[in-house]
Amino acid sequence: MRWLVATLLTAVLSGCGGPFIGTSVEGRPIEALTFGAGRPLVLIVGSIHGNEPEGLPAVAALIERWTESPPPARSRVIPDLNPDATANRTRGNARGVDLNRNWPTANFRPSRTHGPAPLSEPESLALARELARHPPDLVIVCHSIRSGPFVNFDGPAGELAARFAAAAGLNDPRWRVVPDMGYGTPGSLGTYLGVERGVPILTVEFSRGHDPDAAARALIAGVGAVLDAHPATVRDPTR
Ligand SMILES: [Zn+2]
Repeated sequence: MRWLVATLLTAVLSGCGGPFIGTSVEGRPIEALTFGAGRPLVLIVGSIHGNEPEGLPAVAALIERWTESPPPARSRVIPDLNPDATANRTRGNARGVDLNRNWPTANFRPSRTHGPAPLSEPESLALARELARHPPDLVIVCHSIRSGPFVNFDGPAGELAARFAAAAGLNDPRWRVVPDMGYGTPGSLGTYLGVERGVPILTVEFSRGHDPDAAARALIAGVGAVLDAHPATVRDPTR
């Protein structure tokens, strides 16, 4: 019943052109906001693992900034892809599935935490539909890890990762690029988009317990530097 209500709610909201791209397992709406215009099209996800909430206040600050002064490129922001996990403080969604292992990649492995099949979860499916509807030139996803802060990347994003880390590092010299996480990530969004489709994707790893103001400054500086450096950026000389 809850599923039916959630599905109807999503249908009504998306029919209204509302900012919702889907609904979580427990019926929470998944929001997406649009800022700015022009290329590149950037997609930013504030949180995908509910036990890594450090990106949420950083993305909230970015939204506040862009509400006052739009970015120089069209930007879609999904503040929280995994709202049930945020509410429950879990890594996976309400069914225990890691949304960063649930993608249709060559190395997808079905399991209790990866899901029975690729895109088996309403949250990952909502993001897959978002990617199809608004194909991004660049994706930035926020996480946190004890060994952070750093930027990891997949696809042709090495230079963009370096730009992000350099800009974020102006206020905090710990920021660096880590090209390899050092462990396998089958079915990850980075493999799906970056490795298999050539879409540059940055995995921003805040440190666990990252000071929210510092995280916000780092994200705003890093995203700004990346937008300036992206090869698809079309500069308007009248701006
Ligand atoms: Zn994570």
